[in-house]
Amino acid sequence: MNKYKELKERAWLANMEIPRQRLAIYTWGNVSEIDRSLGVFAIKPSGVPYDGMQASDMVVLDLDGNVVSGTLRPSSDMKTHLVLYQRFEDIGGITHTHSPYAVAWAQAGLDVPLYGTTHADHTHRPIPCTPMMSREQVEGDYEHETGVLVAELFKKKRPKEQPMVLVAGHGPFTWGKDGMESVYNAVVLEEVCKMAYLTRTLGPTTPELPSYLKDKHYLRKHGPDAYYGQDGHSEA
Ligand code: 13P
Repeated sequence: MNKYKELKERAWLANMEIPRQRLAIYTWGNVSEIDRSLGVFAIKPSGVPYDGMQASDMVVLDLDGNVVSGTLRPSSDMKTHLVLYQRFEDIGGITHTHSPYAVAWAQAGLDVPLYGTTHADHTHRPIPCTPMMSREQVEGDYEHETGVLVAELFKKKRPKEQPMVLVAGHGPFTWGKDGMESVYNAVVLEEVCKMAYLTRTLGPTTPELPSYLKDKHYLRKHGPDAYYGQDGHSEA
């Protein structure tokens, strides 16, 4: 349907960033983007390899989870995306990947400590990992419950300031103002997880970054008087 053409195109381009940035292989991972004025979001079809995937393959759903455009089955993680769009009202795109370092922290069930300025440039808190899901949650409406788990964890956090989470035993979900920014955050998350892993391996008792240095880096990029980048605006 024509009115969704641009949204499908944007969601497809963001999905194609996953293999381009080496965040996942084969059919792993998925990206979606929402158009809140139309009340719909477009997401990768389930189990379709990136190689050869077309914009017209994207599946468009309304905010009750009904397919409104597309012939393929939507991503198996669709309901997780849906819950996050419902609960986080100012996000426009979501990415899920299986990038190895982020998955490793998720499998270990660990928050990622804020060890350095690379991390602080993007978010000023440790990256949270959810608790392990219960049997009831998994055997119920699993993907919906995954979204609820993340939303509950973020009840006292600002999703816009902390655009990333690890789901225990599973892997990362990131978000942003659109699909492409959510993939950017997935790339950042993977790099930060890799650096944190190496840091902990080299120095198991390394403390977190002092708050004055953490604040300096976060605020020079995201604070009211930000001066990182051109015209005071960051690229992300
Ligand atoms: P889908 O192909 O259904 O999106 O699944 C990919 C995936 O990564 C599942 O976690």
